[in-house]
Amino acid sequence: MQNARAGCRAFDAAECYGERMHYPDLATECQVARGARVRAVGWLAEGHVFTRGDVDAKVIPALAQLRDEGWVHVAAAGPHECELCRGAREARNILVPAPDVLYVAPAMVIHYINDHAYRPPPEFVAAVLACPAPLTDEYFAGLRRFLDVFSTGDPMTADDFDRWAREHRELHAHLAAERKAEAGRKRFTWD
Ligand SMILES: [Zn+2]
Repeated sequence: MQNARAGCRAFDAAECYGERMHYPDLATECQVARGARVRAVGWLAEGHVFTRGDVDAKVIPALAQLRDEGWVHVAAAGPHECELCRGAREARNILVPAPDVLYVAPAMVIHYINDHAYRPPPEFVAAVLACPAPLTDEYFAGLRRFLDVFSTGDPMTADDFDRWAREHRELHAHLAAERKAEAGRKRFTWD
C-alpha cells in the first residue's frame, strides 16, 4: 500500500503502537518506530514533566530542514494538536540518523523548543547538528543503517530503501524547481 506522498508507506501508527502521544525521552519506542536502536525524543504530552532550558540556536533551522526535506518511513498521520497550549498543529515526524541510534521526533518538537522552552537530550542536539543535510548521499547512507526500524509490517529491503530514497530526492528536486520558477514569476511581477 502506498501513500500519495512519495517515499512514505501508508502505515497506521495508531493501530500498531497505540494512540498515546507521550513517550519518555530516549525511550526505544514512540508512535512511529520502535526497536533497540530507536531513541524517542520530544514526545511531550499534557501531564508529563519535561526538561526545560536553553538550546543551541542552530538546532531549530537544522530541525526545520529535516522536517521539510528529510525522509521518513511513515506517512504523516492526522495532525496532532499541541497538548500544552492547543496553539499548534503538526502531523509530520523527523528522523535523525546517528552512527548507532536513530532519533525519532515529532515535528512538533520545533514548537516545543521555541514556545515551551523544551530542552531535548544533549545527544539528540549533537546528532541534529552533526546530521548531513537531507537529500545528500551521506544522509541516506546514515538512514540506510536502520532498515530493521523501517520494516513496519513488510520488511524493507535495501533495494526498497534505495528506491524510496531515489523517489524522495526526485520529488524534492521537482519541488525545488517549482519554487525557483515561482520565485522567478514573482520577481517578474514585482519589477
Ligand atoms: Zn504548544
